[in-house]
Parts: sequence; structure tokens; C-alpha cells
Amino acid sequence: MKMTRREFVRKLVRRIHKEAETLDRDVTIMHVCGSHERTIVEHGLRSLLPENVRLVCGPGCPVCVTTTGELAAAIKAAEDGMVVCAFGDVYRVPTPVGSLSSCDGDVRVVQSVRKAEEIAESEDRDVLYLAVGFETTAPTTAAVLLDDPPSNFYVLSAHRLIPPAMEWLLESGECRLDAFICPGHVSTIIGTGPYESVARELPCVVAGFEPEDVLIAVLACLKMLRRGRVGVTNEYLRAVEDRGNPVAKELMERAFEPEDRPWRGFPTIPESALKLREDLADHDAIEIGIRPDYTLGHDESCICDRILRGLAEPRDCPLFGTKCTPTDPVGPCMVSEEGPCFIEYRFGGG
Ligand code: SF4
Repeated sequence: MKMTRREFVRKLVRRIHKEAETLDRDVTIMHVCGSHERTIVEHGLRSLLPENVRLVCGPGCPVCVTTTGELAAAIKAAEDGMVVCAFGDVYRVPTPVGSLSSCDGDVRVVQSVRKAEEIAESEDRDVLYLAVGFETTAPTTAAVLLDDPPSNFYVLSAHRLIPPAMEWLLESGECRLDAFICPGHVSTIIGTGPYESVARELPCVVAGFEPEDVLIAVLACLKMLRRGRVGVTNEYLRAVEDRGNPVAKELMERAFEPEDRPWRGFPTIPESALKLREDLADHDAIEIGIRPDYTLGHDESCICDRILRGLAEPRDCPLFGTKCTPTDPVGPCMVSEEGPCFIEYRFGGG
């Protein structure tokens, strides 16, 4: 007889407990994906794990890792007369100079870069698209840039790459990590190859977004640790091919090149961001003087930085749920639907 979903989950949890018992030491597994965090919190997966297995979240929210300098540059562009287009999550993030939602300028919330391009087509003024996102969204920005957009269309690229951040986390040793759960959506684009340098040191398991997917990934990490194995295991075979998506990768490659850049909560991470290639300079916001000030700080009472590095949890923040809520957020982690504070507030019992 076929096992029910509930029975399957119970079986996975039993096997996780057995593996953890055999390991007989504390284990920290980090995931780097807002959608994974949502699955984990919404389904209470942490409460199903053995005491010696910690599942921490890293820099998996693209809005959260965007620096205040990049946001402030877009705010200034709007105040200087450009039409600024940004995703809804980005729109409300507070910075020391206000937010896109409160600034004195023409800021439009868009669902896609194509919509921003359409706005540019219908506008006489210059239009700035603030491009936020990891490898999942960068190919769509690339596709528009490579498709001869209107001359008044500019991109401020805040796109970032996940594997260099994983390498930084591992090298810094700040949070002692035993394994990574790799993001499913990002992996559909990049495949498994880019995790290899991290996977030389510890197990990396690519996972999907159902609760069972996350539990399977935890089990795979524990099994690899027990066997003393490292490497990449793909547990999301229904969506991720080892080679990734060649078309999307080619678009990214043609439009962007990697550059060293700070992330919110992180120092400069080598080759961790995407800048426009020289032949697209006509659409590069940097070329018309929209230059982020990466030294710009943020509200010191917000501990998003530590949360994004796996060193703290949302409820460690004294502002959580009191002075900082989704309707009145202090930091990006409470604004974005992929932010750990928002997810904890919304799905973790408020
Ligand atoms: Fe920052 Fe608010 Fe999260 Fe605290 S609860 S870390 S202030 S976003």
C-alpha cells in the first residue's frame, strides 16, 4: 500500500533522528534561500529536528542583502527627476535617506523588468530599473538589456551571486557550518557546478521547496556527514539539471560580468555581484553618475546583518514584533516576503 504524505514525513523525521544520534555531535546546516525559510517556518520543520541539528538561514533574501547605498542611489535618481521602477519588496525598505515609497519622486512598482522597459517606451524622461535578485532573476534583466531597449532605459544592477557568498561564509568561519542546503530556484539556472569549491569542504545538497524536500535534504546532509563525504548532491532532480539552464546562463554571460561588491551584512565579497558589460554601457546607470555609496550605514538597532550571516534569529532582535513589524519595518528582513523576520512574523506565530 502506498505511504501517505504524513507517513512519509514521519519516516523521514525518524531517519533524521537516527542519523543525528549516530553522529553524536552538534550539526549546523545553513540554507541560503528565502523560499526554503518560508517552508521551514510555515511547516514548523525546525521543531521536528533533533536537538543536535540546527537549521540556520543565510543570505537567501535578495532584497535583504541589497545595500542601503544601492537603495539610496535609486532614491536620489527619483528625486533628481528620473522615473524609478522597482519590485514591491524593494519599494518599502527603509534607509537613512528614506525609502523609495516615501521619497519625493516618480517611483513605480513593477512586477518585471519588461514592465519597466514598457514604461521607458512610453516616457520622455529617463527611466531607471533597480535590478535586485540572484541568478534566478538576472537572466530576465539580461534578456531585456540584450533586446535593444529604448535609449532612455537604464539599469542599476544590484544582482548578486549566491555561490561566492557561500564561499565567504565558509572562509570567514564566523558561523561554524557543517553543510549547506543549496537553493532550488537558483540551481535551476546555474546547475550544480558553481557549488563545487564549497563542496570540496562540506556537503552541499540541492533541495526543492516542499516540506519533504527540505527534510530529504537534511537527511542527505546528515548521511554525508556520517560517511565523511563532501560534494554536491542534487535532491531536486525534478527541476535541477547538473548543467543548469544553458540559455539563461548564456544571457547572463552576455549581459553581465562579475565584480567584487559588499552585501548588506557582509564586507566586499569577491566576484559576487553582476555589473553590465561594456557594450551595454549606454544602459548602465553607473555611466550616468548613479553610483551607490557603499559606506552608507543603516539603523544600528536592526540585526538583519547578523541574521543574514546565520549568527542570530529574528526573535533575537529586541525590535521584533514591537518596534518592527511588516506594516512598520525597521530593516529589510521585515519588509521582503523572503526576509527571515517577515517570514517569522507572518508564519512563525507573530
Ligand atoms: Fe531588523 Fe526588524 Fe528584523 Fe530586527 S526585527 S532584525 S529591526 S528587520
